[in-house]
Amino acid sequence: MVKCKLCGERAVVKIRYAKTYLCPKHFTEFIERKVKKSLIRYRMVSRGSKMAVAISGGKDSAVMLHVLSKLSKDMGFNLIAIHIDLGIEGYSEKCVDAVLSLTSSLGIKCLVVRLKDLVGRGVGDLARITKRPPCSVCGIVKRYLINAVSIELGVDAVALGHNADDIIAYTFKSFMLQDLESIPKLGPKTESIDDLAVGRIRPLYEVYEREILIYALVNKVPFVQDRCPLMPRKSLEFKIKDVFTDLEYSMPGIKLSYLKNLAKRLSDYPKPGTPVRSCGVCGLISSEPKCGFCKLTERVTGRALGKEVRDRLKSLIINLV
Ligand code: SF4
Ligand code: ZN
Ligand code: ZN
Repeated sequence: MVKCKLCGERAVVKIRYAKTYLCPKHFTEFIERKVKKSLIRYRMVSRGSKMAVAISGGKDSAVMLHVLSKLSKDMGFNLIAIHIDLGIEGYSEKCVDAVLSLTSSLGIKCLVVRLKDLVGRGVGDLARITKRPPCSVCGIVKRYLINAVSIELGVDAVALGHNADDIIAYTFKSFMLQDLESIPKLGPKTESIDDLAVGRIRPLYEVYEREILIYALVNKVPFVQDRCPLMPRKSLEFKIKDVFTDLEYSMPGIKLSYLKNLAKRLSDYPKPGTPVRSCGVCGLISSEPKCGFCKLTERVTGRALGKEVRDRLKSLIINLV
């Protein structure tokens, strides 16, 4: 039996970069300490701040909410959860159930925003009608609704569940495409822009995907294990993750050191060429006269729905509070 380096109980995990073996209790503390250090190191929260947590039903955001809920008491910040029901048949229902089970067990308020109620269609239909890849449409919808809800809630920041492996994959993809302006947006923290966009934080910036799965299992965090049916079979991001898994195996800690160095150099990357402006329809952030969400809904329904959707969200929030 391999023993925990801290207490001698049976170990369930080997952390190669920390040269240690840990039992469930000490592994849980290790991850919570790691997230707390990131919150402090990257100045993600302060005492009294109000944070929205975007939760999908998957393991990453579920673990993030679980850890933040524990840390919020000690660090003195407030949480509210937001879930976007994407209307993906046979999948979104399970996500809503997992999210509500978690938030009610933690005693955290959760706002469920249903895409079909707002636009009349789910992500699959929007992708089919516009002939765009589902994940690209899904990205536009999620970014828009999470930002719109966060603005109405008046939160200081919205927490996203991207883990260390996701951020490595996204930044390497951006580098390979020489889309360097996107890289700073993938750092541990982005600032709010007036009434246009709420700042984003990534509390799991330094937590590996494998660690998140183990944390979820040993702490019995409810999450949906199925893959989204619209997820592509192959993608550049998956390939990059595979390469880094191999690299990490032969050079333990290389992923962490890349992410820490990246965070220090983000200001050296080029700034967006197009100035930030507000959408002429809904007033939220856009690089063009109409934002992506207003253009998407106009193509599908014949009307740009951003303004109407924002009004509907306001009444949803009034009913929640
Ligand atoms: Fe959305 Fe794609 Fe994720 Fe499915 S796999 S939830 S379509 S981003
Ligand atoms: Zn132990
Ligand atoms: Zn708009």
